[in-house]
Amino acid sequence: MAGQQQTAEVAGRGNASSNRPADTGHASSLAKRKVLIIEDEKDIRDLVRYHLETEGFTVLEASDGEVSLHLAATERPALIILDLMLPGLSGLEVCRTLRAQDKLATVPILMLTARASEVDKILGLEMGADDYMTKPFSPRELVARVRAVLRRTYGPPADQPHQMYVCGRLQIDYDTYEVRLDGNPLELGLREFELLKFFVQSPNRVFSRTQILDLVWGHNVYIEPRTVDVHIRRLRKRIEQDDANPSLLLTVRGVGYKFNPEALET
Ligand code: CA
Repeated sequence: MAGQQQTAEVAGRGNASSNRPADTGHASSLAKRKVLIIEDEKDIRDLVRYHLETEGFTVLEASDGEVSLHLAATERPALIILDLMLPGLSGLEVCRTLRAQDKLATVPILMLTARASEVDKILGLEMGADDYMTKPFSPRELVARVRAVLRRTYGPPADQPHQMYVCGRLQIDYDTYEVRLDGNPLELGLREFELLKFFVQSPNRVFSRTQILDLVWGHNVYIEPRTVDVHIRRLRKRIEQDDANPSLLLTVRGVGYKFNPEALET
């Protein structure tokens, strides 16, 4: 069959991308799902708690830096979501203090910030955050990032095989967000990853920009349909041999885009 497409489950692979050793203190999958959110705005804490708990996470909350350091030391969360702007101890100081403690130095931190100008600093060695999101953020995307950071750090839960898409030269690991083409890893932004995942799940089907926005970005998101073109261009740069003459992600004139799996056959 042309463009044979399959979603395979590949059982527990190693975690090659992790740059820190698995912490045996977090060995149980239950402990791996304990998330501490440090944020002074109650509305945001409630929103994050709701979405994480819906996905089976255990959520601890702190509204200021002092409390959060105490909670982090006693509860040993698997991941910390840390707001940069806090009363008293700032997110920056909390981050430094955590990193200076032996037992908490390796806990992954996902930073929240209202200021895009802080992003470079957040990802810099000084602060040592593992990922960041700028406010306002989509709770769905936050949950996706929490999962991605947890898997990068601790590997997949032992009882859960990886969800993979494998078609010809393309491999997508839905759990670790790793994409390989001809065996080579591709660096994709989160939105490009979600676009690719969306297209490979409906091969040869044509989608309009509006449909793509609804299905990938979500309903009730007011974004220019042309934004889709920007992300398609970025994705093509990564996955096409010649992004000026795409063979995988095809433009259907006057309609939109479709994914052509035949181009993955070798
Ligand atoms: Ca704040």
